[in-house]
Parts: sequence; C-alpha cells; structure tokens
Amino acid sequence: MNQCIAEPLSRRDIRMMARKIRLLEGGLGKLYFDIVHFLEITLPKIDDSFTFTVKTMWEMKDCHGLTYPERNEIQIREDVYERALVDSGRDRLTMAHELFHLLQHQKENISFPRIRENKRIPAYIDPEWQADAFGGELLIPHHLIKGMTAEEIAFQCGVSLSAAKCQMVK
Ligand SMILES: [Zn+2]
Repeated sequence: MNQCIAEPLSRRDIRMMARKIRLLEGGLGKLYFDIVHFLEITLPKIDDSFTFTVKTMWEMKDCHGLTYPERNEIQIREDVYERALVDSGRDRLTMAHELFHLLQHQKENISFPRIRENKRIPAYIDPEWQADAFGGELLIPHHLIKGMTAEEIAFQCGVSLSAAKCQMVK
C-alpha cells in the first residue's frame, strides 16, 4: 500500500487553521464560506505565485482535484468546479480538501514510511484524514452551528446532509 504520513495534527489544530482562513476571507461570523471565491480570487491576491487551474475531465480522469504544493498549484476538474459554483456540497468540500494539502502538505511535512499491509495509520497523521477534517471545519464553522439541525446546517453552509451530520458530532 502506498501511504504517506504527515506531521501530527489534532482536530483542534485543524480548527484553528480553518479559522485563520476564514479570517482572510473576512467571514468569521458567516455560516457560508465561499471556497470557490477564496481559491480563485482571494488566495491569488494574497500570494501571486499561487495558481488555480480548472482542467478538463479528459486531462484529470478520475481525479477530482490535484494539488502540487511545491508548484503552489491546485487543479480542479471542470465538472467539480462547475458544481461547486452552484453550491454542490460534495464538490465544495473537495476544493476545501485540496486547499489543506496546499497549506500543510509540503515536502518537508510528508514522509513515506513502510507500513505493514492492512495496517491503518492513525487518523491524526493521515494526510487524507487531515484534509477532510479541514474541509469540514472550514465549510461548517464549529462555533456557529450550536443548536442548529443537520438540515439547517446543510442549507446554510452549502454542504451535504451527511457532511453536516458528521460535523455535528465533532
Ligand atoms: Zn487528498
């Protein structure tokens, strides 16, 4: 199995990072985070070496998103991008997930250990878990959803019902 591991991060660490990104987009008090606007407009404005690219299905095949931290580039498949524009929760989450790889998974933070087959690495060092956790924290702000139902969260945050339910128990 080809698994890599990342520097350990707790959900609390990841929540803090999501909070900083929300600050950059100017919306700590808003339920909805516009991830498309952040990647397309805000981040290139802050960092002019960052590139956001929308690629065709033919170019990206089964990859919904691809991040090259060394090149400072995020690529998103066109259908994913188009659905994210019209608020598909799953596709918005894909874009938030890729943002975390860009921010955190540079060469110096990632290593490739030999892990016995069928042995799972713990979540807190799994880069995919970290990126998913970040996506949830960024799109569903922990401090604002208390007392809301899953349906309200899904509607107001622009996420899927399952993502909303999942985030409620964190
Ligand atoms: Zn990933």
